[in-house]
Amino acid sequence: MPFLLNEKIRNLTPYDPIQGEYRIRLDANESFLQPDAALQTEIAGIAAGIPLNRYPDPYAQALCNGFAAFYGVDPAHVTAGNGTDELLSLLVQSFLQKGDTLLSFMPDFSMYRFYGALSEVRLLTLEKTAQEQIDADAAIVAAKERQVRMILFSNPCNPTSLLTARETVLRFVRETETLVVADEAYMDFADQSVLDCAAQYDNLIVLRTCSKAIGLAGVRLGFAVANPVLTKALRAAKSPYNVNVLSQAIGAAVFARVDLLRQGIVQIRASRDRLLNGLREMETQFPQYLQIIGGEANFVFCKLHRAQDCFRFLMGKGIIVRCFGEHLRITAGKPEENEEFVQSLREFLNAIVTLETAG
Ligand SMILES: *Cc1c(COP(=O)(O)O)cnc(C)c1O
Repeated sequence: MPFLLNEKIRNLTPYDPIQGEYRIRLDANESFLQPDAALQTEIAGIAAGIPLNRYPDPYAQALCNGFAAFYGVDPAHVTAGNGTDELLSLLVQSFLQKGDTLLSFMPDFSMYRFYGALSEVRLLTLEKTAQEQIDADAAIVAAKERQVRMILFSNPCNPTSLLTARETVLRFVRETETLVVADEAYMDFADQSVLDCAAQYDNLIVLRTCSKAIGLAGVRLGFAVANPVLTKALRAAKSPYNVNVLSQAIGAAVFARVDLLRQGIVQIRASRDRLLNGLREMETQFPQYLQIIGGEANFVFCKLHRAQDCFRFLMGKGIIVRCFGEHLRITAGKPEENEEFVQSLREFLNAIVTLETAG
């Protein structure tokens, strides 16, 4: 008998980000800022001094202290991961058992359902409202009636770039007996965080990442903030040396540069606002073709007539964005990158209008 893969992984395909050389990458919601020269030198010095033959600190204490100081939380409530992705996988794997129900929403970050399926949990997915918002009442009813064990969502949402109000998140926490996991990967760009509440509830975990506002996507650092009971369980369930020694040291050094980080976040928000303004102009000019949905994170989500064609048109010009069916998700880039994107979009829309009014 030949070896056969089991059912749950047989039809999986490896994650396939857009690869290749493109001049302008506005597809992955990364920061467009590079560490400055001083920080680069500092990192090189730190790297040179690390004993690579030794295992890292299993609890990444210096890194967690830096994170905790930057965000004003207690380091005893922080668990570091090899990217938020590792923590998501761990949470679904360890805090849910086979047969438990995981509630997520559509549209939202695709990895939630992916990890749920791998863990063989029941996936309950609620559609969002016509305005792409979570229907809080429906979610609470579903959580109770279906004995949901975990509610998992991103806030602000990837891909819609819309916020869920802090009060709504806290309603989930207070009005259900479900573990609420708020993935705040983009909350540095918005103001509805529940991070300050994580310690006071027994059913709330807040996830943060260094991949977006902090500008360290390549370093792979994510964090879970929760009360001591949940934190202890997370630390116990993770693999012992999950965050490597270089990432720990780089993260700790970067969190010590508070001014640089704050300034970076201001710059990214300003870039997002410029991108949003450019798109609003297009929306006014081409209202039947383009509708902006959200711009609360470091990217803008919009509905676009012939989105797929536009995606290919942009790609031909060396500009990469993400296309989801009839929608485009555009990461805020450098000022000149945003500008070139908006100009190319204008070109595309003008061409489409000409084509469709002639035909
Ligand atoms: C980018 C992103 C993350 C971050 O994942 P990392 O593994 O930390 O890079 C988490 N959640 C959402 C919704 C994201 O878009």
